Amino acid sequence: MHRPGCDPDSMTAEDFLCDFCGRDWTHAAPFVEGHHGACICGECLRAACAETASESAFTCNLCLEPRTDLAFMQPIRKASLCVRCRNQSARTLERDPESGWKR
Ligand SMILES: [Zn+2]
Ligand SMILES: [Zn+2]
Repeated sequence: MHRPGCDPDSMTAEDFLCDFCGRDWTHAAPFVEGHHGACICGECLRAACAETASESAFTCNLCLEPRTDLAFMQPIRKASLCVRCRNQSARTLERDPESGWKR
């Protein structure tokens, strides 16, 4: 997500917050951006890769689609991630040599 009250014309790394842990880009790189400013950091993504998804009805925070299949849940911030977004985001980071990210 974008930090509430941020200036959309001059966004800095601190204005991008992970939807799942709430940390900003400067503290939790690498980041993957979803739709409408939704973000997930590499650490939350790694946790989602290690987790077993559970069946539920939810709206994915990254693609914003209402879904009724497997979800990865972040109970504290009530954020959800669908399997498709998890796989896509993981591939994005794995392909980026600068991210140094491994699942
Ligand atoms: Zn995070
Ligand atoms: Zn999704």
